[in-house]
Amino acid sequence: MLDNLSTRFSKIIKTMRGQARLTEENTAEMLREVRMALLEADVALPVVRDFVAKIKEKALGEEVISSLTPGQALVGIVHGELVNLIGGEYDARAVELNLATTPPAIVLMAGLQGAGKTTTVGKLAKRLVEQKKKVMTVSCDVYRPAAIEQLKSVTAQSGAEFFPSTPEQKPADIAAAALDYAKKHYIDVLLVDTAGRLGIDEVMMNEISALHAQLKPIETLFVIDAMAGQDAVNTAKAFNDALPLTGVVLTKLDGDSRGGAALSVRHITGKPIKFVGVSEKIDGLDAFHPDRMAQRILG
Ligand code: GDP
Repeated sequence: MLDNLSTRFSKIIKTMRGQARLTEENTAEMLREVRMALLEADVALPVVRDFVAKIKEKALGEEVISSLTPGQALVGIVHGELVNLIGGEYDARAVELNLATTPPAIVLMAGLQGAGKTTTVGKLAKRLVEQKKKVMTVSCDVYRPAAIEQLKSVTAQSGAEFFPSTPEQKPADIAAAALDYAKKHYIDVLLVDTAGRLGIDEVMMNEISALHAQLKPIETLFVIDAMAGQDAVNTAKAFNDALPLTGVVLTKLDGDSRGGAALSVRHITGKPIKFVGVSEKIDGLDAFHPDRMAQRILG
């Protein structure tokens, strides 16, 4: 079991018995611990560097220097800064989907294969159905026949409507047909699942960009696996460059990852993390709480 940051800091202070005040040396040592904690939590290296530089600036400020418990003061600063960087104070409205448009409000899902897009569509559909919205899902993933079936199955559990598609169709044709149907049937929210490849490739990015241009979704959600670790930066960069993302869903937080991907993705995209996936089940979606995530990252 890893020590949490505050335990680590008190150990440092103790070993420096008699000089519990912050000095340049023990501050540097504590910053090394912050760095270690973040790296162990899988925050990407460039993001860690930026973060530690920010903390250093604050650590040398009055607040910490004059504190009787500088270790604790520093933990407070690290935690506060981390919360700021991954989203600030929890705001229930900020994490809800923006549906303020002429219906149907379109939500486009983006992310690598296996990130949890299809599962998340089911979870979002259920949540929206519970909010009394008329919801429809459609899969534009024509590469994995099982993907369409999977979406059909999770949609059935959600109580939303499912718009059928087949691997023989073109993604653009599926999207056009689904939108047309949604308009005629007064659907409030159309959730569009897309194909995800194992890695970033140009064909895939062009396809989803074209879908975005065609559908003009009000929400474009980037779905990323919390286990993505150091890869999170490159993946997030590629999707953020290709698409005007509006939010992030961090899945598989029920796994043993410390969730450092949250900080990396937020740093790269600047977009709010709206939801976290906390189980494989249809109700395993929670609103994102920056303070809880900061606690988890710091161990
Ligand atoms: P997609 O390829 O992006 O559509 O990913 P899927 O939705 O098919 O998810 C890939 C795998 O991850 C499936 O086995 C899901 O059950 C699982 N999964 C998705 N979200 C979560 C989550 O929040 N927690 C857990 N434990 N598993 C998840």
